[in-house]
Amino acid sequence: MTERLTLNDALTLALHWLYETEQPDDAWMTHHGQWIPVTGNRHLTVTPTGAENLPVIVVNVSQQTWTKGPDRDMWPGNPVAPDELPRLAAELERRGYAVRSTWNGFPAHTGSVGLVRPAHPSQVAAVARYRAGCLEHPERSVFCECDAWRAGFRRAVGPMPLLASA
Ligand SMILES: [Zn+2]
Repeated sequence: MTERLTLNDALTLALHWLYETEQPDDAWMTHHGQWIPVTGNRHLTVTPTGAENLPVIVVNVSQQTWTKGPDRDMWPGNPVAPDELPRLAAELERRGYAVRSTWNGFPAHTGSVGLVRPAHPSQVAAVARYRAGCLEHPERSVFCECDAWRAGFRRAVGPMPLLASA
């Protein structure tokens, strides 16, 4: 079991990772972002290169349920709370991180906050190295499974020690 953090602690880790953590020159990581478990059936995903190549912090419902909507579509059964995304954005502003935009939120299972300040350049560079794909097997691109390609992911520094090799 991975330990879950309070939202406040998770945000501190996320911001430290985005802005203070340096990725090694020989590490790479996907653009999908890093996962930080939060109490109350939540997790954050944090990416240095979200919309417009700027950082995005997303609050997600971890175990999602679905319910039948007014039509035959399925709707989120346990969405984020109506005030959850606005509060997340307000907390980031309170900590001095200007918010560029927000997406989704209630009644969805996720809410996203886009930040104004670009991530640490080494974080952006690590995602760029991922997008460039395996240098030894260019024909396999990011889908390569060789040892050299896998090793680059292991060298990336995650926001939590437990996630360092994720
Ligand atoms: Zn390869």
